[in-house]
Amino acid sequence: MNLESIKAVQQLLSQPQKIVIVPHKNPDGDAIGSTLALCHYLINRGQEAVVVAPNDYPKFLKWMPGNENILNFEKHNSQAKEKIAEATVVFTLDFNHLGRIGQMQSVLEDLTVPFVMIDHHQAPSDYAEIMYSDVLMSSTCEMVYNFIEFLGDVDKITSEMAGCLYTGIMTDTGSFKFRSTTGRTHRIIADLIDKGAENTQIHHKIYDTNTPGRLHLLGCALKNMVIHDKYRTAYITLSQDELDMYKYQKGDTEGFVNYGLTLEGIIFAVIFIENKEEGIIKISFRSIGDFNVNEFARTYFEGGGHNNAAGGKSDRSLKETAVYFESLLENHQDQLQA
Ligand code: 5GP
Ligand code: MN
Repeated sequence: MNLESIKAVQQLLSQPQKIVIVPHKNPDGDAIGSTLALCHYLINRGQEAVVVAPNDYPKFLKWMPGNENILNFEKHNSQAKEKIAEATVVFTLDFNHLGRIGQMQSVLEDLTVPFVMIDHHQAPSDYAEIMYSDVLMSSTCEMVYNFIEFLGDVDKITSEMAGCLYTGIMTDTGSFKFRSTTGRTHRIIADLIDKGAENTQIHHKIYDTNTPGRLHLLGCALKNMVIHDKYRTAYITLSQDELDMYKYQKGDTEGFVNYGLTLEGIIFAVIFIENKEEGIIKISFRSIGDFNVNEFARTYFEGGGHNNAAGGKSDRSLKETAVYFESLLENHQDQLQA
């Protein structure tokens, strides 16, 4: 974050503001962790602040302190709209274009108040007056820690904030193993533990929440996996019928895509999940090394994300999407073949 932006934030926060903090649609650990940590920080500074999430999120994220005050734009629509209409500042976290917030997009586009973006995705659009955008960062939570440090307030990080920030860094780095994890990431993590983040408990609360249904769904997903050794690629499909059979609940497929990358020699893993209600196939892409899935998702599947983790969608049927995907592998044989 440059000095000019830090000064602009200091200027904003020197006055009492009504602040709305927004994560992306289908928020993950980093989105909820970063927005809640920032919310605690701003409230402790005497500001009025609230998190408004575009929609619901999995149960395993709902233990975080402050969760009870999050407004879900779909569920608490009039209250959420009221808070947005009253806002004097909007913070958007863990996304960088307003197309990532679903129905909230048009509501936020109508606002004339200053926006502050804190985000680590590629290719930010320019809706925010104040931008802290850095694609090298492991997570938005790491950036919120930096943000608080820029404002000279690291010693004001409470145990609640530390727990939220720890969670987002942990989930976005695949428990500290992705390439974006640096020495600095670990030093921040160490400091968060010192400040009261209950690291063992947090791993347990996030990862040890399987239901029998979810494990059976995982079994089904693994059985469906198609492996193309030639292109060092593995992909999974899950149909709506399969999801229904195992009583799918939001968040159940989180992390399934990563299993492809645990196969020796595989560098590109994908999961296609049918969503009959929205009439789309939701896709997650993951890679190891230099194969850029952000570009792949942008080029073929109306998506985006990071170099090694991205998402997108398809309007074709599940079968047609898989066939289309297979036809694309050849275009990238230079990068995919060993
Ligand atoms: P996931 O596969 O876990 O849903 O998402 C992986 C990464 O890609 C996340 O950083 C997420 O924000 C991004 N992402 C997922 N879906 C989309 C999408 O439809 N569009 C864009 N631009 N990014 C996405
Ligand atoms: Mn993130």
